[in-house]
Parts: sequence; C-alpha cells; structure tokens
Amino acid sequence: VSNWTKKMVEQLDREDALASYRDRFSLPDGLIYLDGNSLGVLPRTTAARLDDVIKREWGSDLIRSWNSNDWIRMPQKLGDMIAPLIGADAGEVIVADSTSVNLFKLVAAAKAMRPGRDIILSEEGNFPTDLYVLQGIADMLGEFARYKTVPADQILKAVNSNTAVVSLTHVNYRSGSFHHMQQLTRGIQEKGALVVWDLSHTAGAMPIDLGACNADFAVGCGYKYLNGGPGAPAYLYVAKRHQEQVKPPLSGWMGHKNPFAFDDDYEPASGIDRNLCGTPAILALAALEEGLKTFDGVDLDALRAKSMKLGDLFLDLVERELEIYGIAIACPRRAIERGSQVSLTNPQGYAIMQALIDHGVIGDFRAPDVMRFGFTPLYTRYMDVWNAVQIMMEIMNKDVWKSRRYQIAKAVT
Ligand SMILES: *Cc1c(COP(=O)(O)O)cnc(C)c1O
Repeated sequence: VSNWTKKMVEQLDREDALASYRDRFSLPDGLIYLDGNSLGVLPRTTAARLDDVIKREWGSDLIRSWNSNDWIRMPQKLGDMIAPLIGADAGEVIVADSTSVNLFKLVAAAKAMRPGRDIILSEEGNFPTDLYVLQGIADMLGEFARYKTVPADQILKAVNSNTAVVSLTHVNYRSGSFHHMQQLTRGIQEKGALVVWDLSHTAGAMPIDLGACNADFAVGCGYKYLNGGPGAPAYLYVAKRHQEQVKPPLSGWMGHKNPFAFDDDYEPASGIDRNLCGTPAILALAALEEGLKTFDGVDLDALRAKSMKLGDLFLDLVERELEIYGIAIACPRRAIERGSQVSLTNPQGYAIMQALIDHGVIGDFRAPDVMRFGFTPLYTRYMDVWNAVQIMMEIMNKDVWKSRRYQIAKAVT
C-alpha cells in the first residue's frame, strides 16, 4: 500500500517541469477535468483566433482569404504541425474530414493496393466506429472482401496470404492498454499485408514514431489530446513510399491535381494532397491550429513521463482508498503498459460517474461498467488527482451515488 500524503503530492506539483503549460488553457475554476481523452480543454488563444478568422478573414477579406490568408494550404500546414507528434516527416500528414471518414479512405485505398487478398482484419473490442467502417467497406466490396476480427493477442497469428489490410488502434479506448506498434507492423508486413493505425488515443498523449515503426498508414482525432474543439477535423498519415500508389476512394476536387482547372476527369494530386476530398472547414481548422500550438516546445518524453506518473498516483490511491468499495482497476497496473488514460470498473460505474461529475470531477463512462479518467499532462496537476480521489471517497463512503438522479442514463456518456 502506498504512503502518499497530501504534502508529498503538493511537492510533485512544485517539481513539475510541465506545470507552466497549464496557463495555455482556459479551465473553469474549481473543476477537475479528467476527460481530455474525450474532449480536450479550450486553449486560451482559440476564442481570439476564431474571432479574427470570422471578423477579419471571413468578414472583411472574404473569398480573397483562400489566397491572402492561405486558407487553401491549411490542411497541409496543420498536418506538418502534427507530424512531429507522431514521428512523421513533413508532407506525410494532412488534416481533413473525421477520423471515421479518414479510416474509410485509407483502409479502402490499402485494400485496393492488395488486389489478390480479400481479408480486412481488426481486433475484437476495437473502437466501434473503426469496426463499423470496416464492415461498410467489406459490404461495399461484396465478394472481393471479407471482414474479420480476432482477439488482440491473436492478430499476428491471424494474418496470412489472404490478408489485405489490418486496421488497429494503438491505445485501446476502454482498457487503456496499447499495442507494440513496431513489432506488429513488422509481423503484418512480413505476411505481405498493410496496416492502418488509429492514433486517436496516442497523439498528444505519448510519443510514437511512425517512421521508425515503418508504418504504412495512420489516422487520428483532433478533438481529444490535440485540443482542437468538439468535432475538430481529423488527420491522416500516408508513408512517403505509398503516396503515389494510393487511389483515393473519395476522389473529390480538393484532391485533384489541379482543382481550379475544372477538368471533367479526375486525376489525383501527387503526394499527400490527393487524400483531401472536399473544401476544408476553415473555422474548425483555425481552432485545431490553436490546439496544436499548445504543444509548441513541449518535450514529448517529459509529457509521457508525467502522464505515467499521474496515472500511477491515481491507481496507488484507488488501491489504498477505493478498492474496499468494490471499485477495481480495469487497465494495466504498470504505467509502461498503459496509454494516458486509466480505467476503473464497478457495476454501479454509471451512477458513480454521474455523482462525480456533479461534484466537479469530470471523467466518462463506457458501457457496461467502465469509468475512464484521462490524465492529460499539459494541464492536469498532481493535486487534481489527489482531490479527485478524496471526492470519490466521499461519494462512496456516504452512498451519494445512490441518489435517484444519478441513475438516469443520458444520451452521451
Ligand atoms: C475518438 C475515436 C474516433 C472518433 O471518430 P470520429 O469520426 O471523430 O467520431 C475513432 N477511432 C478511435 C479509436 C477513437 O478513439
């Protein structure tokens, strides 16, 4: 049992080299926000930036802004800002659409690059939209594709000469555990298949090196750790070596070689640009850019180290104070096996989470019984962890969660 005291935890905050980054965000007073893995908090600069984009760039400059404010290159520019967070080179990442749509684009393109093979493989318990998108692609391709899932620990065994594409999420949204990207990528490629990684719970929370892993393709989310705002545009990565082989299944004009030639016939742009489809959402891109700027100068290894330490402190305190109430740890206990989020389980998890939120500690709930807590290192303090556990102890000790109003299921959990 750990011997953490409040004084020791306060000391961790005083010694925290990342502490000052919290000033880059606009956090409500008195709120303990442990849900940056679902929706990152508002950066301090976003409102003023959007005000400027709306009033000056849109309001005054109007359509001239596509050139004068370089709106047209924002997808590439933001892609190049994301690249260093995921070990990609400039020109390998572009911002567009949603994660779901980007996954569709890249899995369908990868499948077409392996025409003699029909299996699209994923893992049981992957994020639902990923699985639904794969099912849709397999349906669309009819007899030319088969959708298959296997348990996470059997992926490599399941890859064979019929496997075209493997679609995997690096950090699992429910358990917080993550795959060994380099080893899996190599194993999949040795069997001749391609792999598409979903980095939604990775980028901005822990460093990853797509280049060193020889990754083929990747997608990820803009509104979680990247702080781009609700429904922010997502990104996609295509390794340089594949870029000219990709045949975009959503062959829109923004991915055309020369959109403003207005040709009748589609011809893809070279490089990453062909993965665009329609006109980029400039207001949303501007908000995402402010989110990405919160990573300026941040040492990603220090970020990872703090995230591991925050999670460990939380789990140490959960073991000491909360296991007696039947709250169990549902993620890897060892930080080295976890992403930046921690999961607990209890049959009354939904009501407990509702009570917590009502008492100023925001996490979220994933059916049937998982309470998730995200430890975003840029703005979470060690004392937030301490205080969250104190509040949770109150809620359990006094049966606060039993109140009727915490039992009613809301539309979004
Ligand atoms: C959050 C998340 C998504 C979100 O997809 P949207 O298209 O933005 O709704 C997809 N995949 C994973 C693994 C996620 O964590």
